[in-house]
Amino acid sequence: MILDGNKISLEIKNEIKELVSKRVNERKKIPHLAAIIVGNDGASLTYVGSKVRACDYVGFKSTLIRLDDSISEKLLLDNINSLNNNNEIDGFIVQLPLPKSINEEKVLLAIDPKKDVDGFHPTNFGRMALEMESFIPATPYGIIELLERYNIETSGKNCVVIGRSNIVGRPISILLSQKSDRGNSTVILTHSRTKNLEFFTKRADIIVSALGIPEFLKSEMVKEDAVIIDVGITRVIDKTKEKGYVIKGDVDFLNVSKKASAITPVPGGVGPMTISMLLKNTLLACQRKD
Ligand code: NAD
Repeated sequence: MILDGNKISLEIKNEIKELVSKRVNERKKIPHLAAIIVGNDGASLTYVGSKVRACDYVGFKSTLIRLDDSISEKLLLDNINSLNNNNEIDGFIVQLPLPKSINEEKVLLAIDPKKDVDGFHPTNFGRMALEMESFIPATPYGIIELLERYNIETSGKNCVVIGRSNIVGRPISILLSQKSDRGNSTVILTHSRTKNLEFFTKRADIIVSALGIPEFLKSEMVKEDAVIIDVGITRVIDKTKEKGYVIKGDVDFLNVSKKASAITPVPGGVGPMTISMLLKNTLLACQRKD
């Protein structure tokens, strides 16, 4: 079974769209997402562009703040502060990565946790880990939602997460092990220092791969009927393509899909889910202010 992120993401966006039009009828505030982007990185501009288009689709207001990559840390922090204090803005994101001259940690800490719809602020991360009300980072949230909507059982399953980043690997490992729906898994969090990765992946009922190495996970590394969630997005140069590159996931899809009981494609799997969950978090931020 292919876990169709495009289809489910559209379903979610349509649900949000309906809730927004209900809010309009009830004369409630229309959710407003802002995004700060620093510099001209191609992939970052594409991501932010999709987020703005998704806002238009569901009827949110959106504000895009483009800053030059020579901007000082102080000026960027000033921009963040003004979004924090702007009551019209319900949530905002600062698109990563940032130029090397800027301290990412300082930027993250400057965002008001109530508006941190990416869920990267330590307050939100901590609250998530403690199963308190928070914003769940969009990508892991999207994975949980995908499993939920395809009714994939996680309780009691052996789950291997590959990659321990703060935005995907670590939070999804926490969510899958929590005492909750689409949790209750036995989770093993693996990373670049893991010895004999195959030993773990071969025994996994569910594998979440978030390491960013194209076609890393081969069919001999997974067991029959495993559920495979491919988070990887890597641009691989391909001169035969108009764009000059193709997008590859972490999984050797052609071969692994023959063995898996369910698998996300790349593109069209976790990627579109991430955007929908960002919208969901923005709606939530707005609703919490009602
Ligand atoms: P990252 O790039 O910050 O870190 C990679 C992780 O992989 C590290 O924790 C490292 O320990 C681990 N790793 C590296 N080599 C390994 C190996 N040989 N064996 C086991 N683990 C290994 O991670 P990230 O920011 O989570 O990004 C991972 C991938 O997911 C990238 O391709 C990124 O583009 C993609 N991504 C996709 C989405 C989405 O919306 N679909 C969102 C975020 C990231």
